[in-house]
Amino acid sequence: MKRRVWLLILALGVVFAGCEAVQDLMSDGQGLVVADEKQETSNERLGYRDVDLTDVEIYDYLMLINRQNRARAINEQDLSAAWPTVPVSVIDGMLLHHSALWAVAEMFDEARAAGFSGLFVSSGFKGLDEQERLYDNGRNVFALPPGYSEHHTGLAVDIMATGVSQVQLAGSEQGRWMAENSWRFGLILRYPEDKQDVTGVPFEPWHFRYVGKAHAYFMFQNRVVLEEYIEMVRNDGVVFDFNGVEHFVLHTNAQNGIIEVPDGMDFSIYTDNLGGFIIMVRR
Ligand SMILES: [Zn+2]
Repeated sequence: MKRRVWLLILALGVVFAGCEAVQDLMSDGQGLVVADEKQETSNERLGYRDVDLTDVEIYDYLMLINRQNRARAINEQDLSAAWPTVPVSVIDGMLLHHSALWAVAEMFDEARAAGFSGLFVSSGFKGLDEQERLYDNGRNVFALPPGYSEHHTGLAVDIMATGVSQVQLAGSEQGRWMAENSWRFGLILRYPEDKQDVTGVPFEPWHFRYVGKAHAYFMFQNRVVLEEYIEMVRNDGVVFDFNGVEHFVLHTNAQNGIIEVPDGMDFSIYTDNLGGFIIMVRR
């Protein structure tokens, strides 16, 4: 971990905390903040501590899985039966990561309250065998090669609405509501129509991916997909205000299983599935 990077990004946070323009800066699509070395000096007294990665929970929510990056084995204890928590197309064997399941349940409740009914989960966790079958039969043009689908994590969920076909979903009131609101539950529309060149996947208005509320908020507000978000975090780090709390998101690599985090701050650690880690600090 480069300590200097933390110093810079936290110093900028101090500047922003007292700056009324911060909201404007964050909401204009330029949420990315580039650190400035001049601001290092004021925060050199900040304490740091080493965190042993075997002592903390490492979240899977930001794992980048696409044609270039294979899914890795997840802890199957994280999977829960989707039924009867949410309506499903097939009761038996419909599994989701428990975090994704609760997000979907919360979203369905609010959709119903907003007058949009009939939503159900049509696909969740897929084992490798199932993805191989989908891919081999050639009928599912959307399926990624076996091992390279987010569905292997249980964090991806396909959502349909009763009486609405896949083709109709994007234009339906349910599809539009989900596209605009899913971020509030920590879910992102993973393959938007205008990002096919980035994701490598055609528009899938039914495919949502759980990333957590703060990350989903930033990605939605800035219209970036997971590939772009990870790149922003890796390049310069990202700072944003969410629910009145400053969030700092940075990339780091572990050294001998140890990473360095600012002292006395609430943090979460995520694997990026690229060999590194993403740290989110809140204050
Ligand atoms: Zn899907």
